[in-house]
Amino acid sequence: MSENMIPLEGETQKKRVCYFFDSDIGGFHYGPGHPMKPTRIRMCHSLVMNYGLYKKMEIFRAKPATKREMTQFHSDEYVDFLNRITPSNMNSYVKEQHKYNVGDDCPVFDGLFEYCSISAGGSMEGAARLSRDKCDIAVNWAGGLHHAKKSEASGFCYVNDIVLGILELLRYHNRVVYIDIDVHHGDGVEEAFYTTDRVMTVSFHKYGEYFPGTGELRDVGVMKGKYYALNFPLRDGITDENYKSVFEPVIRQVMESYDPSAVVLQCGTDSLSGDKLGCLNLSMRGHANCVKFVKSFNKPLLLLGGGGYTMRNVSRTWAFETGIAAGVELGPEIPVNEYYEYFGPDYQLDVKSSNTDDLNTPAYLDRVKRIVLENLRHAGGPPSVQMQNVPSMPIDAALEDPNADEDFDDPNDRRPMRLLDSRRQADGELSDSDDEGEGGRRNHTLYRESDDINGGHKFGLGGGILNAGSMSSHGAGPSGHTTAVRILSASVAVAESTMDVDTPSADSNAGGSGSNSKAGTEPPASEAQNVGEKPAPEAPAVPVNPVTEDKMDVDSSAPSSAP
Ligand SMILES: [Zn+2]
Repeated sequence: MSENMIPLEGETQKKRVCYFFDSDIGGFHYGPGHPMKPTRIRMCHSLVMNYGLYKKMEIFRAKPATKREMTQFHSDEYVDFLNRITPSNMNSYVKEQHKYNVGDDCPVFDGLFEYCSISAGGSMEGAARLSRDKCDIAVNWAGGLHHAKKSEASGFCYVNDIVLGILELLRYHNRVVYIDIDVHHGDGVEEAFYTTDRVMTVSFHKYGEYFPGTGELRDVGVMKGKYYALNFPLRDGITDENYKSVFEPVIRQVMESYDPSAVVLQCGTDSLSGDKLGCLNLSMRGHANCVKFVKSFNKPLLLLGGGGYTMRNVSRTWAFETGIAAGVELGPEIPVNEYYEYFGPDYQLDVKSSNTDDLNTPAYLDRVKRIVLENLRHAGGPPSVQMQNVPSMPIDAALEDPNADEDFDDPNDRRPMRLLDSRRQADGELSDSDDEGEGGRRNHTLYRESDDINGGHKFGLGGGILNAGSMSSHGAGPSGHTTAVRILSASVAVAESTMDVDTPSADSNAGGSGSNSKAGTEPPASEAQNVGEKPAPEAPAVPVNPVTEDKMDVDSSAPSSAP
């Protein structure tokens, strides 16, 4: 083994890790000056490969999610719109852009739909492989886009790959826990599952004068979902130690009392110190401790990306966390890679915290922690769910089709090509001065600063993710859960059914060294697999009627609109 990777201490069992990467992801651009840069995923991948992590896991390129798969959660009209809109025709869709909150924070760019398909495809296929026991941990750094709503883009997110991934998990798992360590509230996911006890959402985030404005301590879910949404609001500057002091006891208690059979962890890295849009003070190791801790419960785990706007910090941290998943600690020296100069001047892996003040006092954290744990107690023990049959979905065909593996190549043949591919860098992407320098938060105002009003930023109608001081007028938040998915009566697989669908295929090679890789191959002709398959009537993600009862008591003070 390379000296640049050492086995994790105290690792009790080796995990089978599936890692999803599509090199196309780095070629998408939100637009000049936009802080969301898909290239960060490719930078991370470059570190992953050059550290040698491909020896420790299977690497896949997921089949991009189809329109139909997206409508498991999103509305047909919205998905249609995303599929149709381009920079050249967008002027004919002014009304729709407004309706779907596209523009401003969530711009129309070339390949937008394909970008969403790649992000969602990785999370869905990761979930599907976990459910079929083809791996223990699935990693999709292109996923984690937690703000997207049923019929609305929000906070740089268009398609909610997380909700789609969780829906896939719910076909086989009674209860799924969703944990969100992005600096922003995981509002889209919370909202989707706000009325169900099948998913417990737990979000740790900056709250107060901050996007998206939801995620209050008192927002705990409604109806059957009451006490199955937990929110831990934080103030600026939280340190590793203080974060750990609340994250671990809360998550431990969640795992004990809810007893999920699968876990989704959104690893947004805008909670790191020095993030361009964030305001917390976690180091890489403090952030990764969450991954290590969640992993220690030995449940099927879907690891997703999310926010993260200082690219060299995002890529280093996700590479390190990929190592944690695979059971190794990456060494401190960054190996030579195609982005090497970007990690100067010291070329070290660590992302350090700063000496900024922590506004989270021990008394504050302790009080919030006690209330969150109290909310959790209200939920009681794990709810039981009637298990029924597994509705067949298009992704089944993709996973079970023995021919789907034909195009798997020997990873050792493919990889050098992948690395060459990733050298092709869009003009100016890396030289964007707004990602340079230490403590990138000085650059808060770079994006659309002409809109600056009283130190905040106004975009379109609502406050955007960029607008630290304003609430979104979009995104109903817990005050208007009109977009929850209906999974309450959804059928869930019985344990024995998983056997039926789990036909061995060439890719499920459990051996360590001979891992087959799909990365770099063309995705199989996709739509064909959908023909003739209809979601079962009780399939999840059917919209429910707006919640009208039981909401006043949980959400009297949530912001409802912005100027
Ligand atoms: Zn974020």
